[in-house]
Amino acid sequence: MEDYKYLFKVVLIGNAGVGKTCLVRRFTQGLFPPGQGATIGVDFMIKTVEVDGDKVKLQIWDTAGQERFRCITQSYYRSANALILVYDITCQPTFDCLPNWIKEIDTYASSKVLTYLVGNKSDRLLHREIPAEIGEHFAKQHSMRYLETSAKEAENVDRLFTEIAVELTKQA
Ligand code: GDP
Ligand code: MG
Repeated sequence: MEDYKYLFKVVLIGNAGVGKTCLVRRFTQGLFPPGQGATIGVDFMIKTVEVDGDKVKLQIWDTAGQERFRCITQSYYRSANALILVYDITCQPTFDCLPNWIKEIDTYASSKVLTYLVGNKSDRLLHREIPAEIGEHFAKQHSMRYLETSAKEAENVDRLFTEIAVELTKQA
């Protein structure tokens, strides 16, 4: 049996295709699946990280494709300790949809939830449509932390989840 000091639920949201499943795969399995935008077929994945010598178990929830049908339910947000709102820095519409996601967060999530805004696909710098400063500004306006990641090149992915673990243990 695995022992741990903390258990936190981390939930990913954002438009279909922005790379949520790839971020989870990259972090939990160290893989970048080429091609198919795979559905992982389970509700959540687990990874344990260490913060100051304490084991922190992260239960990471990925939408199993429901975002395509706009039917992400209240139960998905309930009891989330942290939310990761992802958009694709190379795809303007995914940024334009952020206010809708913020509305969902405000409606369904706990008011204490730790929220990160993540601009994914930072490896595709030539095709960037949203400047980092714009993302950062939006995050600040909505009291979110901001990071740009590449699931493909493993850029800032460990950092994202580790920062969340550190922050949540501070609050615990
Ligand atoms: P989801 O619908 O949000 O879960 O998105 P997926 O994780 O299924 O990824 C959608 C598509 O974007 C797939 O074709 C991935 O290969 C691609 N993708 C995901 N992350 C990255 C990234 O960091 N860089 C690049 N270049 N492509 C990515
Ligand atoms: Mg997915």
